[in-house]
Amino acid sequence: MPRSFTLPSGTVLRCRGWRQEGLLRLLENVLAIGEAPDDLVVYAALGKAARNWESHDAIVDALKTIHEDETLVVQSGKPIGVLKTHEHAPIVIMANCNIAGRWATAEHFYDLEKRGLICWGGLTAGDWQYIGSQGVIQGTYEILARIAEQHFGGTLAGRFVLTAGLGGMGGAQPLAGRLAGAAILCVEVDEARLARRQSAGFLDVVAQDSNTALALVAEAVKQRRALSIGLCGNAADIYEDLYARGVIPDIVTDQTSAHDLVYGYVPSGFTAAEAVMMRSDPERLIAEARASIVRHVTAMLGFQRAGAIVFDNGNLIRSQAYEGGVEDAFSIPVFTEAFLRPLFCRAIGPFRWISLTNSRGDIARIDDFVLEAFPGNRVVTNWIRLAREHVPFEGLPARIAWLGHGERTELALAVNRMVAEGQLGGPVAFTRDHLDAGAMTHPKIMTENMRDGSDAITDWPLINALAMASSQADLVAIHSGGGGYAGFMTSAGVTVIADGTPAAAERIRLALTNDTSLGVMRYADAGYVAALDEAREKKIHYFGIGTGAE
Ligand code: NAD
Repeated sequence: MPRSFTLPSGTVLRCRGWRQEGLLRLLENVLAIGEAPDDLVVYAALGKAARNWESHDAIVDALKTIHEDETLVVQSGKPIGVLKTHEHAPIVIMANCNIAGRWATAEHFYDLEKRGLICWGGLTAGDWQYIGSQGVIQGTYEILARIAEQHFGGTLAGRFVLTAGLGGMGGAQPLAGRLAGAAILCVEVDEARLARRQSAGFLDVVAQDSNTALALVAEAVKQRRALSIGLCGNAADIYEDLYARGVIPDIVTDQTSAHDLVYGYVPSGFTAAEAVMMRSDPERLIAEARASIVRHVTAMLGFQRAGAIVFDNGNLIRSQAYEGGVEDAFSIPVFTEAFLRPLFCRAIGPFRWISLTNSRGDIARIDDFVLEAFPGNRVVTNWIRLAREHVPFEGLPARIAWLGHGERTELALAVNRMVAEGQLGGPVAFTRDHLDAGAMTHPKIMTENMRDGSDAITDWPLINALAMASSQADLVAIHSGGGGYAGFMTSAGVTVIADGTPAAAERIRLALTNDTSLGVMRYADAGYVAALDEAREKKIHYFGIGTGAE
C-alpha cells in the first residue's frame, strides 16, 4: 500500500509524553517535506530519515511506547533497542554513517549501503531536523549579505551573481539572491527542477537560452533591480561559454551535487535522466563527471582572476577538480572561512525552532518576540522581517535565525515560558544545523585553514555530542559523511523540546548553553581572538592552554 506523508498537528499525544511525541512529529515532518519520501530520502539523493521501511516503522513504534526514563538507540537509520536510562537522559541517541578512517571511502560506503548495513543521514535528515529550504535560504542569504558588506558597500543591488544547481538545497539560491538584492542567474541541467523552483516562486523567470538570460541580467543590473533567472543547461558548458565571451559576474559559486559523481553531478553532454541510467557504469560516469568539473572549475578560476568574488559553497567541487588535475583549484576559498568564521567564533550560527503543533501563529508570535528581544541584532532582525514576508513555510512551520551564545538559551527559555502560560498553542522544538561552531569537522567545508591547523581533528563534534547527552538534550546524533562525503566529515546534532515544563527549561538551559559554549571554545582553542574575547566577555569557563593567539 502506498504510504501517505501527512503533517502532524494539534495537541493530542500518541506517545507517553511531549519529548517522544515531539521527536516523532519531527520524523514525520522531514518525510512530509522530503525530496523522495517513498524511498525515505529527505535530500541530497542519499540523505535518509531511516534505513528502510521496517526500521522506520520500528522507530515510530518505539517512540510511541517508550517511557521518559528510556532511551532509543539508532544506528545508521536502524533502531537497535531501548535502554533503561533515567528521565534526564536523551529520548533518542543515534550514530549515522560512521566508518573507520581507512575504510571511509565512497566505494566502501556504497557497498555497505547496498548490503543494508548503513545509510547516510545527511546532516539534518537522519536526525529529523530538516525544515525545508528555509535553512539553506537563510544560510545562502547570510553568505551573500556578508559578501555585500565586505566587498560591495553593504548591498548587492546592481550586482550579478552566477550559480548552478537547483536541487533540495541549491534550490534556495534564487530566492536568497533576490532577497539580498542581486540579479542572480541559476544554471540547472534538469528542466523539472527549474519548473519546481519557478512554481514555488523562487525563480522569477526561466530564460530559453544564454543570450536571453544575459539580456535579463544586464537589464536588472542596470536598473539595480533584484531578479532571479533560471537557465537550463550544464554548468560546465555555460560557465565556460560566459567566460569565453568575457562576461564576468560580480560573484560566482556553484551548488550542483559535485560531492557525488555517481548520484549527483551530471556530466556535460548528458541529460539528468541519462546520467541516472549511466549509474550502471559508475567508472565511466565518474570519469565523465570529473572531466566536466575540471572545465567547470577552470572557468570559475578564470572569473576569479578577472576580479569576481568566487567561492566554494560546500559541495566539494574544488576537491573533485583538484583530483582531476586542476592544481590551483583551492585558490577558490570556501564560504565558511571566507565569510562566516567571525560569526562562528562567537557561536553565532543556524539556530532553528519548529512548531510541533503545526501552528503558523506560534511562529509569528515568536518572530515578534525575537524582534523585541534582540533589537540590536541586525543580522537576526533583518532576516526575520524578510523571512516572514518572503519565505514560505514547508511542513511544520519553522524559523531559522543566526543567534549566538546566550541568545539561543534566552529565546528558548522565553518560548518555554510562553508555552507554559498558554501564549503559544503548543510545544516547540529547538535545534540547529550541524554546520555550527563546535559541531562539525569538515576540513574542506567547515574547518578549512583553521588558524592552528586543527582542520581534520574530529574530537570537537564528538565532544559536542557527549556534552549534549550529558546536558539532557532530547535527541543527540553523531554523523559522518556518506557517498562522496565519506571520510570528509564528522558532525553532531541536537534537539531539545520546549513543552513548557520546568524540566524542559532545565534541559534548554543546560543543552543550549553548553552547545554554544563549546562552539566558542573550539574557535578560541584554535587561537581566534574574537572567540577568546567572547569566552572572556561571556564568562565561559575555558582554560586557554596553548592557544597560540597573539
Ligand atoms: P541535489 O542533488 O538535490 O541537487 C543538485 C542539483 O544540481 C540537481 O538539481 C541537479 O540536476 C543539478 N546538477 C547536477 N549536475 C549539474 C550540472 N553539471 N550542471 C547543472 N546542474 C547540475 O543536491 P542539493 O541538496 O541541492 O545539494 C547541492 C550541493 O550542495 C551538495 O553537494 C550538497 O552537499 C551541498 N550543500 C552544501 C551546503 C553548505 O555547506 N553550504 C548546504 C547544503 C548543501
